[in-house]
Amino acid sequence: MPRSTVVRIDLDALRRNYQTALNRAGGAQVMAVVKADGYGHGIGPVASALDSLAPKFAVACIEEAAAIREAGLAQPVALLQGVHAEADIDECARNRFEPVFHSFQQLSWLERLEARPAFWLKVNSGMNRLGFHPDELAGVMNRLQAMSAEKGLLGFVTHFACADDPDSAMTAQQTSVFEKATSAFPGLMKSVANSAAHFHPDQPMFDWSRPGIMLYGGSPMVGKTGPELGLEPVMSLEAPLISTRMVPAGESVGYGAGWVADRDTRMGMVAIGYGDGYPRHAGTNTPAAINGQRIRLIGRVSMDMLAVDLGEVPEAAVGDAVELWGEHIPVDEVAACAGTISYELLTGVTRRVPRVEDGASTT
Ligand SMILES: *Cc1c(COP(=O)(O)O)cnc(C)c1O
Repeated sequence: MPRSTVVRIDLDALRRNYQTALNRAGGAQVMAVVKADGYGHGIGPVASALDSLAPKFAVACIEEAAAIREAGLAQPVALLQGVHAEADIDECARNRFEPVFHSFQQLSWLERLEARPAFWLKVNSGMNRLGFHPDELAGVMNRLQAMSAEKGLLGFVTHFACADDPDSAMTAQQTSVFEKATSAFPGLMKSVANSAAHFHPDQPMFDWSRPGIMLYGGSPMVGKTGPELGLEPVMSLEAPLISTRMVPAGESVGYGAGWVADRDTRMGMVAIGYGDGYPRHAGTNTPAAINGQRIRLIGRVSMDMLAVDLGEVPEAAVGDAVELWGEHIPVDEVAACAGTISYELLTGVTRRVPRVEDGASTT
């Protein structure tokens, strides 16, 4: 028998979250961002579950786009980092992958090829990671015309740096830089919105939005959990209680002996640790749940196990399932306890943990 440490994926919740994104997209079409193995949920099952809803997918790189085709899906797939080699452009053309070109090197690869994919241009509106500066756009467009590639151009993309913070002025600033930069080229599509932008009441959404984390029920907004934003958790991480004991007052638990019982405490060991992707930085008081009741971690997370305080749940017994995050414990809350964001926890569950999908059949 394998240990019962498991990730459960609720594909119906995923579909409802997609619908929430669509409702909040202000008439824009919604491409489902499924990079990083569907944010750790499994790109094949996730993309398949969205087949009847999503007219387009978005991923970071061409290997991820290929995984969508291997799952048997035919939608166009946007490659948010463009391509990393000239030969990949051919593959894009053959497979309806839509690279987002962000550099002059990528344009020079395009110049040398006959078969050209549909593509996007990335505009750097202020995040300063990737993209053409607004002043460079006219030159880029001339170059596309010179190589007769402008017909493949779908439109313009930009990405927000601070949309997780509704009080930041930067999102509106980036939107205005982007609108101004692209206004000289009418008739082309625009795409700006990550998940967070779906929660800004006045944000223009243009033609395509690009939600990622919200599809999986994680919160894109600082200080809010997914459920507080009307999103449903898609991933539940569960592990069994494998031992319980009384720790006498004054004794410690685990490595470093950092947590010391201030009274006789019934504690339990749970078969999951940082070797499974549970964050080692989640300290004492990080929440978990057993039989739907909240409990807390005590002491340090080890590679294969962690300790919980069972003082509030005397009926808890060896073999019971402990939820580390999911229905009762928002992943955002665990992430905050570990000094990180839900994105990192969801993408970080390791291959040691088997994934089980519910609701896989699509309509
Ligand atoms: C990852 C990514 C997204 C999705 O971001 P979320 O915050 O997960 O919604 C959108 N656009 C680009 C360019 C991305 O890289």
